[in-house]
Amino acid sequence: MIPLLEESRGLGRDLQRILRPDQISFLSPDRLSYGRDSSSKSILWARSREIKYPPDAVVWPESAEEVARVLAFANARGIPVIPFGGGSGVCGGTWALRGGIALDLKRMDRIVKIDAAEMNVRVQSGINGEIFERELNRRGFTLGHFPSSIYVATVGGYLACRSAGQFSSQYGKIEDMVEAVEVVLADGEILRLGTVADSPGVLDAKELFVGSEGTLGVLTEATLKVHPQPETDSYLGFSFPTLEAGWEAIRGLLQAEVFPCVARLYDKLDSRIAASHRNQKAGVSIMKSLGGALHPLAHFVKDRSLKLALKRPRWLQRALDALPGDCLLILGFQGLKALVPAQAALAARICAEHQGKALGEGPGRHWLKNRYSVNYKLSPLFDEGYFADTMEVAATWKHLPKLYRAVREAIGEHALVMAHFSHAYPEGCSIYFTFIGHRESEEASEKLYDRIWREALAACVAAGGTISHHHGVGVLKAAFMPQEWGEAMAWLKKVKRRLDPANILNPGKLGFET
Ligand SMILES: Cc1cc2nc3c(=O)[nH]c(=O)nc-3n(C[C@H](O)[C@H](O)[C@H](O)COP(=O)(O)OP(=O)(O)OC[C@H]3O[C@@H](n4cnc5c(N)ncnc54)[C@H](O)[C@@H]3O)c2cc1C
Repeated sequence: MIPLLEESRGLGRDLQRILRPDQISFLSPDRLSYGRDSSSKSILWARSREIKYPPDAVVWPESAEEVARVLAFANARGIPVIPFGGGSGVCGGTWALRGGIALDLKRMDRIVKIDAAEMNVRVQSGINGEIFERELNRRGFTLGHFPSSIYVATVGGYLACRSAGQFSSQYGKIEDMVEAVEVVLADGEILRLGTVADSPGVLDAKELFVGSEGTLGVLTEATLKVHPQPETDSYLGFSFPTLEAGWEAIRGLLQAEVFPCVARLYDKLDSRIAASHRNQKAGVSIMKSLGGALHPLAHFVKDRSLKLALKRPRWLQRALDALPGDCLLILGFQGLKALVPAQAALAARICAEHQGKALGEGPGRHWLKNRYSVNYKLSPLFDEGYFADTMEVAATWKHLPKLYRAVREAIGEHALVMAHFSHAYPEGCSIYFTFIGHRESEEASEKLYDRIWREALAACVAAGGTISHHHGVGVLKAAFMPQEWGEAMAWLKKVKRRLDPANILNPGKLGFET
């Protein structure tokens, strides 16, 4: 049994006045499961049999009123409450830094109402992303939100972190889809903000809670826009001689207001990995794909000596950079049969104007088929003696090249790094870095891991980028919030103190005090 924090003694007796016994757990396996998220750091800790931040209790409320009762109780006692959706976050957002109560929303998973006339859906926040999308599809709609974590994440987690799906260039991020929210404040007050056609032109209060990562309130319900299911789709692949040419093509496309659902541009190493993955059986491991991608260097980087090569990441990266190679761009379009072919033809013309060589449908169709399978394979890499992680940042088009080079340089000092550009908009684009390094020991890898994050985020801020496009801030990016927000950070802290004076709501996240 993991010991309870002093302030949490007697918690069981008190919680049983609010919830049924089957809605409360103090069991160690539950507390251990809820003391982590899906970050590589959580994986490292689990491997060392150490869960650093377990909550004291886990509760499963079934209504906004029950959430309100738990919060009012915790507020009166000064006990932290950590909202928990699917636990797929990757920035430490669900770590119980001061213990307290993990509040799992997953029993609140009802679709309250689909309104075909208004084209929206009212849904409870604990619903699983994939189940939700399937239910909408059965009735002819789509949310248009497809994060790679769709099988795990919840609607509440999407909203709390301002998540982006793979089709964000067409449908927008989750904050573009939300029309109203129900949120429970630290003192137990239930607020409903932003109903349909509510007050055009007036301050939008729900904006404060969307993206607040559970630090200002617990989201219990949302009204989200829905779309008709697409009639058809079309996928195009192109190879570009340089990243710059690929960037210009995507920018040209979006600024001409041709909106693909997907625009993914891979740098040379990531393009090599994507090609190797396509050439092998679906579902192969990242390392196997990496092995395939390194094929041209095979005479000195064989599978078994890969570890050795990764001890000199800078050297390996330079050798790979010197190899000839192109950058792959995948474009996808979906919607009406009358529009999609025209959009695809326009896109093909714009890509050709920027030196894009057409590759046909193959790369895009392969991506579509495997789009949920890759990311979950990071964790087995740790067993093989490597460490791996991903980091997403974003910038406007003007700052994008500098951002890419600066963050790549910072990570490349310690690990082999590759990137792709997805979530593109007329104003700019996000960059998704994947890095893989050699692991000496658990302790050494944690130190190295912290150093990579620190140096990469410092490089991001210095290059004019934003530290988060869709994963949120949590704990791992929190130190950079003051730089990102500047003077407005003091204002944000005032808002937090007003809404949550006892600091019970997810303390220590988003740059707020622990
Ligand atoms: C393999 C993999 C792929 C991923 N791909 C994507 C991707 O394509 N796009 C993307 O945007 N993200 C992606 N992520 C990150 C993650 O899935 C998202 O951040 C997701 O939105 C988190 O949802 P969740 O329900 O799992 O939240 P959790 O991990 O449970 O929580 C995340 C944060 O939100 C808070 N929170 C959760 N629910 C609520 C609520 N109801 N009210 C208030 N606060 C709440 C938590 O306290 C925590 O701070 C990926 C993660 C993994 C592991």
